[in-house]
Amino acid sequence: MARKKESSKGDIFQLLLESSEQRKKSKRKQLLESLNVKEFFEEGSISINERTCQGLECELCIKACPSKALYWRDGNVGIIEDLCVYCGACVLCCIVDDCVKVSRRRFDGKVESFSRPRAVVLLFNSINSQRRHSRVETLFPDDDAYLKRYRKLG
Ligand code: SF4
Ligand code: SF4
Repeated sequence: MARKKESSKGDIFQLLLESSEQRKKSKRKQLLESLNVKEFFEEGSISINERTCQGLECELCIKACPSKALYWRDGNVGIIEDLCVYCGACVLCCIVDDCVKVSRRRFDGKVESFSRPRAVVLLFNSINSQRRHSRVETLFPDDDAYLKRYRKLG
C-alpha cells in the first residue's frame, strides 16, 4: 500500500516537472517570437572561454546574436541560455578559434558541435546541399520523372 502512495507521489512530481518544463518552453517560444526568431534548436549548450575572449575590444558575438542571448556583464560576455537558439552565428563571427563552443541536437537526434567559423561554414554548406538534394528528390523521384520533364524541353 505504502508503495502505491510513493508511486503516486512520484507521478505528481513528474507531472509538476513536466508542466514547469512546458511553461518554460512556451515562455521561451514567446520571447523568441517577439524577437522575430522562428527557427531554433530546443536542445543544446553554449560556453565562452573567458580566458581567450577578446571581450571589450570585440563584442562581435553580442552584435551578431539574433535572439539577444549574449550581453556585456562585468567585463565578460554573459549568456542568457534560455534565449539561445544554438544557431552558431556567434561562433561564425568570433575572432578567436575555440572561444565560443556550441552543441545542439537536431530534430532527428543528431548532435552537432562546433567552435570554429570554418566548422560552421562547412556545416551550413552540408545542410544546404542536403536540402537541395531532398528538393531534387521531391521533384524527380526517379530517372523517368527527370527525363519526362527535360525531354520535353530538349
Ligand atoms: S548560438 Fe550564439 S548567436 Fe546563436 S542564439 Fe546562441 S548565443 Fe546567440
Ligand atoms: S566574438 Fe569571440 S572574442 Fe569577440 S567578444 Fe565574442 S566571444 Fe569574445
